[in-house]
Amino acid sequence: MKYRVCVLGATGLVGQRFVSLLARHPWFELEILTASKKYVGMKYGEVVNWVVDNSMPEDVGEIEISSVDPEVIAREKPDIAFSALPSDVAVEVEVELLKRGINVVSNASPMRMEPDVPLLNPEVNADHLELVKQQVRRGWRGILAKVPNCSTAILTLALKPIADEFGIKRVIVSTMQSVSGAGFRGVPSVAILDNVIPYIKGEENKVERETLKILGSVEEGKIRYADIGVTASCHRVMVLDGHLEAVFVETSKKTAVEEVKEVLREFRGNKIRGMNLPTAPSEPVVVKEEPDRPQPRLDRMAGRGMSVVVGRVREDKVLGGVKFVVLGHNTVRGAAGTAVLIAELITREGLI
Ligand code: NAP
Repeated sequence: MKYRVCVLGATGLVGQRFVSLLARHPWFELEILTASKKYVGMKYGEVVNWVVDNSMPEDVGEIEISSVDPEVIAREKPDIAFSALPSDVAVEVEVELLKRGINVVSNASPMRMEPDVPLLNPEVNADHLELVKQQVRRGWRGILAKVPNCSTAILTLALKPIADEFGIKRVIVSTMQSVSGAGFRGVPSVAILDNVIPYIKGEENKVERETLKILGSVEEGKIRYADIGVTASCHRVMVLDGHLEAVFVETSKKTAVEEVKEVLREFRGNKIRGMNLPTAPSEPVVVKEEPDRPQPRLDRMAGRGMSVVVGRVREDKVLGGVKFVVLGHNTVRGAAGTAVLIAELITREGLI
């Protein structure tokens, strides 16, 4: 038997990725798709402006768009709702679904930093899932797990093996983020063509705070934030998909470049290793030796978009540690792909 799933915001860029990943998923059956009010009752294939893959999965186009009204969704009793809603809409809809017993895995930013809400990047912190036990106190009958901000998901996957092996004191990160990170109607072409925009609202704050929660630990049911100094500068560049990040790390122990490459290559994610989750990449961190890689166009689909690709690993003599470049697919590893991986973890753990 497959779990019945719903995608909220299915016509957007993250929503389309969900549809693409879930249409042939071995454990999940895609049954409900929502969009804004004006499309309710119309067929998905008629209203979606499909842009994420070469073609839309067969049959999905025939699904009728449902209302995002939690009452209406709850009547259909999906096991999991994947949320790709804008933040302002997500706040209310997600909580109302949780109260009605629907489990929610969400990409929207509200509640990511709540102490009883796990902010999961499964290879990094699957053990934080135990926080959901505390959510009954809110009167929720479903469980809520959040996907990190896209740049943060990519960054923490590369930092985790280094933190475990050498310890990290400080991180400086400068991002070059693709236009798809801003959503379907996000950045006007006249603003981004031939340009770099050195500002993404709220992004630096999310990277700096979420990294500490994800790399932190859960002790006696409470999140203990990682004791790392993180400072970020975020920029929008004229790339379609894939966020590239230049990262400078001060390590606690002395490191050698070759050792760092080895721990990155060998990293599999402690808890989910051996669980055989369908969306888990075989190599979460791919390390490139070529001096001009990773590049968004060439490397963003590594591990079907679920691996991050690290390159240019060098000694950082100023900070005392290493510097490197990391690339990840923002709508797959940074959004829908990680959400599906979280849902696989939750079902494997028997929480649904
Ligand atoms: P998007 O392309 O703008 O898509 C938004 C979706 O929400 C569309 O399906 C839209 O439907 C629907 N929607 C908008 N207003 C609605 C309303 N009032 N009621 C019901 N549905 C409504 O955005 P996105 O890039 O996919 O991002 C979705 C969420 O994921 C956001 O919270 C974003 O911050 C987060 N996120 C995005 C990325 C990324 O790389 N893009 C990465 C991580 C997290 P219509 O088509 O009918 O307007």
